[in-house]
Amino acid sequence: MQTFQQYIGGAFEDAGETFASLDPATGKAWARMPSASAADVDRAVCAAEAAFFSPEWAGMSATQRGKLLLRLADLVAENAPKLAELETRDTGKIIRETSAQIAYVADYYRYYAGLADKIEGAHLPIDKPDMEVWLRREPVGVVAAIVPWNSQLFLSAVKIGPALAAGCTVVLKASEDGPAPMLEFARIFDQAGFPPGVLNVITGGPEAGAALTRHASVAHVAFTGGPDTARHIVRNSAENLASTSLELGGKSPFIVFDDADLESAVNAQVSGIFAATGQSCVAGSRLVIQRGIKDAFLKRLKEKAEAVVIGAPDDMATEVGPLCTLRQRGHALRLIAASVEAGAKLITGGTVPEGEGFYFPPTVLDCSDAPGAPCLSSEFFGPVLSVVEFGTEAEAVEIANSTAFGLASGVFTQNLTRAHRMIRGIRAGIVWVNTYRAVSPVAPFGGHGLSGHGREGGLQAALDYTRVKTVWLRTSDDPVPDPFVMR
Ligand code: NAD
Repeated sequence: MQTFQQYIGGAFEDAGETFASLDPATGKAWARMPSASAADVDRAVCAAEAAFFSPEWAGMSATQRGKLLLRLADLVAENAPKLAELETRDTGKIIRETSAQIAYVADYYRYYAGLADKIEGAHLPIDKPDMEVWLRREPVGVVAAIVPWNSQLFLSAVKIGPALAAGCTVVLKASEDGPAPMLEFARIFDQAGFPPGVLNVITGGPEAGAALTRHASVAHVAFTGGPDTARHIVRNSAENLASTSLELGGKSPFIVFDDADLESAVNAQVSGIFAATGQSCVAGSRLVIQRGIKDAFLKRLKEKAEAVVIGAPDDMATEVGPLCTLRQRGHALRLIAASVEAGAKLITGGTVPEGEGFYFPPTVLDCSDAPGAPCLSSEFFGPVLSVVEFGTEAEAVEIANSTAFGLASGVFTQNLTRAHRMIRGIRAGIVWVNTYRAVSPVAPFGGHGLSGHGREGGLQAALDYTRVKTVWLRTSDDPVPDPFVMR
């Protein structure tokens, strides 16, 4: 069985304890992963802190940091097939998506490489004649980055990229579910030439996460995961008063008006809820459909859902693979049962296929007569779509906003003025119009409410890893005047 190591202070090492990682396609253990103890976490944070203050890193020019990030981007691109294979093996995410996504992850590092020496301070037109005042932008310090198992290379790139561009150092805790791609990423990072300790990669569960997020030397916690874990993290940050950015879940509305291009909207809905086996924070998991086209849309969607190729995640022909964990499948089954009990109608899917692995079929629940069904408010994080119908544009906005989450949304219409009104009316961090599930390093990503706060991607994300230092320099040679009066 393959064994992976943790990466602390520029060295690869075994942890005192290990745990088995399961292959979601078979449900069987395939590798052993290091389980970081509280002492390991402490060593990783100390290594990051030492690197942060070291002349090798603190004294490095921003341009040189950018060059190292560029080298890392090239290494990620070169190693993308291997990383994709590992992510598919350990998380069950289909190879068709991991291959494309990881090749694109290199572009995130490229984007932040270019940004490293464009993080500028400012000069202030101060209201005192004998003073020069300016702002320096300085890195915040040691960043604790915590990611869930889905798209770990992507979700860590949007933390590591801007944090290193800004001059911070990072301790990344990979998810205890499917950490293999992150531990392999550490090997690639090691070849890029960064000073030791600039990035440390460990894995483990809630205990390791708690030890990391409340560590006294952590300045910022960049977290992606569920809202319940986020609450623990915010409580932990009461210990070190670290700032936090939280990228959490969603219950995103996918709104289709009767003038939409039906075939295109159905395809986008398939992508929005069945791609990545629905294990996507931006999943368009609530179809909000105008009454006049509901039947035609659902008929076409059902045909497509039932034609989806379900199979081994490492087969390029597979469209829907297994869920990452058995826990996920249990959650989906319980939520479907409670929703059917509340009056939701099962249109397709909903039953576990025979055979090994954590498979779950594309599922559609019509909740038009069950507005209180729990599937409309709770995240599945699986390939389960809940449908609700509307009549007027105002109703569509009301339904779209009837959620505690606020991450993503989609609007399908050919009416330009209506599209603009919907863009204004929807409360979400992302609005996709006539498309869905598009991302870019250039575009900020994030939500509000139970979907968290802070943005990843784009220029602002790098600035969020800096803080401002205000510098006052007196230009007068006269003695400092009256010491009892504030200047
Ligand atoms: P999770 O919240 O259970 O775990 C996420 C990470 O937090 C894991 O690494 C876990 O070990 C760690 N953790 C657990 N308890 C902790 C604690 N007490 N202190 C510190 N760390 C702790 O999430 P999950 O089930 O692995 O992932 C699914 C969730 O992630 C969904 O809600 C999904 O929507 C969300 N997600 C959000 C985004 C986004 O960008 N908004 C992207 C992907 C996934």
